[in-house]
Amino acid sequence: MSDIKAIYIHVPFCRRRCKYCSFISYQSRESDIPAYIDAVKNEFSLRSGNSIINTVYFGGGTPSLLAAPQISSLTSAMKDNFNLANDCEITMEANPGTIDLNYLSEVKAAGINRLSIGIQSFNDEELSMLGRIHTAKDALNAIKDAREAAFDNLNIDLIYGLPGQSVDNWKDSLVKAVEVNPDHMSLYPLTLEPEEPLFKEIESRVLPEISADTAAIQYELAEQLLEKHGYIHYEISNWAKPGKECLHNLVYWQGGEYLGIGVAAHSYIVNRRSANTADLSQYIESSSHNSLPPQEVDETITPETEIAESIILGLRLCNGIDTKDFKKRFNIDIMKRYGRQIEELINFGLIENDENGIRLSPRGRLLGNEVFWRFLPDKL
Ligand code: SF4
Repeated sequence: MSDIKAIYIHVPFCRRRCKYCSFISYQSRESDIPAYIDAVKNEFSLRSGNSIINTVYFGGGTPSLLAAPQISSLTSAMKDNFNLANDCEITMEANPGTIDLNYLSEVKAAGINRLSIGIQSFNDEELSMLGRIHTAKDALNAIKDAREAAFDNLNIDLIYGLPGQSVDNWKDSLVKAVEVNPDHMSLYPLTLEPEEPLFKEIESRVLPEISADTAAIQYELAEQLLEKHGYIHYEISNWAKPGKECLHNLVYWQGGEYLGIGVAAHSYIVNRRSANTADLSQYIESSSHNSLPPQEVDETITPETEIAESIILGLRLCNGIDTKDFKKRFNIDIMKRYGRQIEELINFGLIENDENGIRLSPRGRLLGNEVFWRFLPDKL
């Protein structure tokens, strides 16, 4: 029986593609938004359920491209089809170039109670290099407006490891971030795929190479600075003021079940992983026949894969894996089953252990992939 606690809704529209973007999002398709909203509501009704939902997340793309009444119609359609907990965390991602005080007040009234603002940098040259549609000033205004609209659970995203970004430039962004005092910060290293414009600009030497060493120093700087300002580092890329951890992402990291709605949305329910079509037209078309969208992924997760994923996701959390919880869930003594890998990783200084369990060391947080692959099923 399923035990879904989290729902993700994908909004695949952006005003303009950023130069590093690897998400499923369409530009110049804003005229499809009304049909898309109808299709999403239809998927709500086709997948409706009774389990108590603790978290909802509108991600993208750019959810804040939807008008406030459209957001409101989605939150009320959700309530008609799902059993949302009274204190359900409802997050919406927002781009600083698309929001103002009036808009934020309206989406707050529509039930959004956590805002995640994609700021990425407080440096205009870096924002322009990334192809963002906003400036640092827009970002500061967005944060001010969010507070004025009474959002008391506010995340900002920043990216480090940018081409040519000095440690001092990164420090400037971090200092500005702590000055505006968000409740939560997600800090991601820039990762690029060959088809992305920024990758090509680096390849053709228009921009300098990304320096892994500089990115490591920038990450360590963030760890020190955010700790000094009262943020708890609770996941490799995430910091929160006490009690402000992102409940939705915790469901993913703790191996919980979730339902994904919309174009390219992934679900994980009763050991099955599935993903809706990433084709916007196909998604809207299937809804017009009152059918569920075609699935691009539909696979059963084997027990071995489930265990490996649970270790990899669990190690992303700074508290790591509790051996008793692991035993309860899988009936496996992790220290025995993975003794060889754990001993090797302790010797390399990449993980630490004590009587409660295992976790990444500070060095391991910088070299997570060096740790994770050792727990994959074919490495046993
Ligand atoms: S706003 Fe986000 S989803 Fe949209 S193009 Fe930029 S990085 Fe991609």
